[in-house]
Amino acid sequence: MNANGNLLDLIEKHWGFRELRPLQGPAIDAMMARRDSLVVLPTGGGKSLCYQAPAVALSLRGEGPTVVVSPLISLMKDQVDSLRSNGIAAAQLDSTLGADERRQVTDELRAGRLDLLFVSPERLVMPAFQDFLRELGVRTFAIDEAHCISHWGHDFRPEYRQMAMLKEVFPGCNVHAFTATATERVREDIVAQLKLDDPAVLVGNFDRPNLTYRILPRQELMKQVVEVLDRHKDEAGIVYCLRRRDVDDYVKTLNGLGRHALGYHAGMTGEQRHKSQDAFLQEKCDLIVATVAFGMGIDRSNIRFVIHAGMPKSIEAYQQETGRAGRDGLEAECVLFYSGADLFSWKRLIEKSVAEAKEAGTEVAADFVASSMMHIEAMDRYCRSAVCRHKALVEHFGQTYEAPGRGADDADGDGESKIGCGACDHCLGDTQEIPDATVLAQKILSAVARTGERFGIGHVMAVLRGSERERVLQLGHNKLSVYGLLKGHEDRELRDFIYQLIGQGVLAQESVEIHSGTTASILKLNAGSWEVMKGKRTVRLVQPVRGAKKPEKRKDAASWEGVDEALFEKLRELRRALAGAQNVPPYVIFSDNTLRDLARQRPSSPQNMRLVYGIGERKMKDFADRVLPLIAAHCRQSGAALDQRSGFERAAVAPRPVSKMSDPKRQAYVMFEKGAAVDEVSAAVGRARATVSEYLAEWVETERPETVAAWVPDAVYARVKAAAEKRGTRALRPIFMELDETVPYDVIRWVVAHLRALESVKRA
Ligand code: ADP
Ligand code: ZN
Repeated sequence: MNANGNLLDLIEKHWGFRELRPLQGPAIDAMMARRDSLVVLPTGGGKSLCYQAPAVALSLRGEGPTVVVSPLISLMKDQVDSLRSNGIAAAQLDSTLGADERRQVTDELRAGRLDLLFVSPERLVMPAFQDFLRELGVRTFAIDEAHCISHWGHDFRPEYRQMAMLKEVFPGCNVHAFTATATERVREDIVAQLKLDDPAVLVGNFDRPNLTYRILPRQELMKQVVEVLDRHKDEAGIVYCLRRRDVDDYVKTLNGLGRHALGYHAGMTGEQRHKSQDAFLQEKCDLIVATVAFGMGIDRSNIRFVIHAGMPKSIEAYQQETGRAGRDGLEAECVLFYSGADLFSWKRLIEKSVAEAKEAGTEVAADFVASSMMHIEAMDRYCRSAVCRHKALVEHFGQTYEAPGRGADDADGDGESKIGCGACDHCLGDTQEIPDATVLAQKILSAVARTGERFGIGHVMAVLRGSERERVLQLGHNKLSVYGLLKGHEDRELRDFIYQLIGQGVLAQESVEIHSGTTASILKLNAGSWEVMKGKRTVRLVQPVRGAKKPEKRKDAASWEGVDEALFEKLRELRRALAGAQNVPPYVIFSDNTLRDLARQRPSSPQNMRLVYGIGERKMKDFADRVLPLIAAHCRQSGAALDQRSGFERAAVAPRPVSKMSDPKRQAYVMFEKGAAVDEVSAAVGRARATVSEYLAEWVETERPETVAAWVPDAVYARVKAAAEKRGTRALRPIFMELDETVPYDVIRWVVAHLRALESVKRA
């Protein structure tokens, strides 16, 4: 960010953030410079701050309130609650307000007391309302969920179209559009529809490094789901299902297993749905089982896992649904339990919906089936692909993926990182490629050929496994050369391989009518099958690692480091109580990040509480008298120290975006904290000494330890310091020369990092 240093202060004051997320700076700059903009950031990327902070500043500058257009009343309400809890004057005007409330808002607007006004698109297009806004001198508009304006988006809303009039009705106004939908076509459509004038187009990185993606074969679903739940005790999550009746079933099963789960789907009454959603947002229930109807407007930022019990209908949907996890930037897990059968379930669902539409006389767009199938097949390929999940996802959205460890790990300089994302099933080693996959595939395909391409998966598997079931014997299939060829394999494993072959296009599945009205799926060979059988084409098959330890929850070392977990739980309890009393969702009071930092720093005074992440002036004033006594009592009881690592040393230190760090680096940081030697760390994290030496310099500079005596003897430190005072710290070489080349560059770098750290503490 350039010209808007004051805005940083304002953000710190109200939001308690000391650092901006990627593109927030340029987005804020554009708005402050009164240049139209289109900001595309993934869910959780921090779009709201991009217009909320400038709105406050513009209002202070006398440019009137900013009008924010948002499609859902519930979304508006949350934003308004959050803003007010940060001491910002915001309000909404919507159909739920009574006449008195409405008058109060309009009075406040006339008195110039509001910085932000949230409205629905329907209201904005009303001429009388437009007159009112003109009277107020409104000249800044922020359009949230701007993709709703485009036919090409996944969520078109006709009422958004009418906002094309903004530029005409409010001459000279500025319009700022925000969306998480990245495709080029939608982007261009937004710019054209809203008639943005030479907009700053800011498109963020679509990778969500804090999410761990796992796509695992669905075997015993409930058991698998419970395993994930067990990794996330007392944490919030969503289980997505394809069908309403699955929702009802799973809710019953899970509750039977003693897990408190609520359902949500479009077949429930509005009241029931509301109850589920509220319980989830109020943190009275941490587990929702839902169809995709649940999601839009779910702004709970501490969702720690999203489970898909079946494959979503597109990669876009997958990105969006998984994107609801970890919006606070902390680690979260997304597990999809996949079966090749999902592709066919979707196909049937689409056929059914087309048939229903036709019956009802509704027109179905000519390419609806084709385009839906295209999306589903892309998703299916994504599930089967053995490529890093982060990489494949980001590339689908037309971006290039840079693994977090890149650079330091690129020892041979070929530009490819060697550690992968460290946050997906493939890179974490949950799956492995099976050796001799092509030979195995040939056996399966031969069995399809020998049985005459007339049978379904079940029968082909029975033959391959040497089953003695009646049908096999009756047909004489126990005499075939392929009988019992894959005896050693389990049913579900074989089934998964067969689906993988179908997914790779080397085996086909067809519906045939057996009696009138009943159909069955049979396996058929295709051109690809013959290529494989003739050895002209190879296939790859993957399977979960056998006997591997269960995937562990990735506990972000840095984000939990130093956190007193017992205190964290107590603070969570307090947060729930405060939220209940104010009738707002708990995250409006404090985010999980803030709770962790409170439980880490354990401030003893209001001043020190202000140093905690996410605590601005207002939150400090409102909650210090509840939070501080709780912390003090806890520390007295448990003997934990107060005011940890915060003090004034860290006053101006931004919390590091931990999720961007590679795992080895994170691990190294934890070891430095304990004073571990460079060689020791190098061995432990598997990185070259030179790399670890760089890590140490960075750590010293950002973490500002009191001393670096663990790595540099006092006498050497004194000499380097003296040389640095003489020659400056801008370059290392002059210091090296000043010391007659007797002190290695490494050591100089660490000392210089420390001197800089001390310097910045003084400045702060
Ligand atoms: P989006 O609308 O893009 O999905 P939000 O605006 O809801 O994202 O922001 C997601 C979360 O990130 C919120 O909890 C918000 O408070 C937090 N956040 C936003 N900007 C910052 C920042 N600069 N530093 C720390 N947290 C931030
Ligand atoms: Zn990966």
